[in-house]
Amino acid sequence: MSETTITPRPIAEISSYHAHIYYDPATTRSTAEQLRDWIGERFAVQLGRWHDVRVGPHYGAMFQVAFAKELFATLVPWLMLNHGDLSILVHPNTVNPRRDHVDYPFWIGTPLPIHDEKLPSVSAPEDAQQPNTTPHLSPWAAPDFR
Ligand code: ZN
Repeated sequence: MSETTITPRPIAEISSYHAHIYYDPATTRSTAEQLRDWIGERFAVQLGRWHDVRVGPHYGAMFQVAFAKELFATLVPWLMLNHGDLSILVHPNTVNPRRDHVDYPFWIGTPLPIHDEKLPSVSAPEDAQQPNTTPHLSPWAAPDFR
């Protein structure tokens, strides 16, 4: 076999996922607060701190949602329907944070630049973080008009 042979990579390389939810502190923070509350009511995830100023490779203000692989098939489509006008970066966590953010992610809403020079190409895989939410509503249920 030549050295150019490529074999498909197993999805077992993905240890968990992040969704980074971007907002503008001046105009869309309340939309982001609403979405964060809705996520916490429906999904066992770890909601990260509010970053009102740019941090790491991220374009601007955002908060992180760390979630287990098993939640992908419900959380991601739910975000597709409920992101409003916010941009969301969804990326896997493998052992290469740079590729995770630059080569493997996708966007819900308007794509934003990534400052990938801030990212290492090697890191320990990040298993799903301990959830800090207490979901009590089903993402499958119709909206509850209170
Ligand atoms: Zn991330």
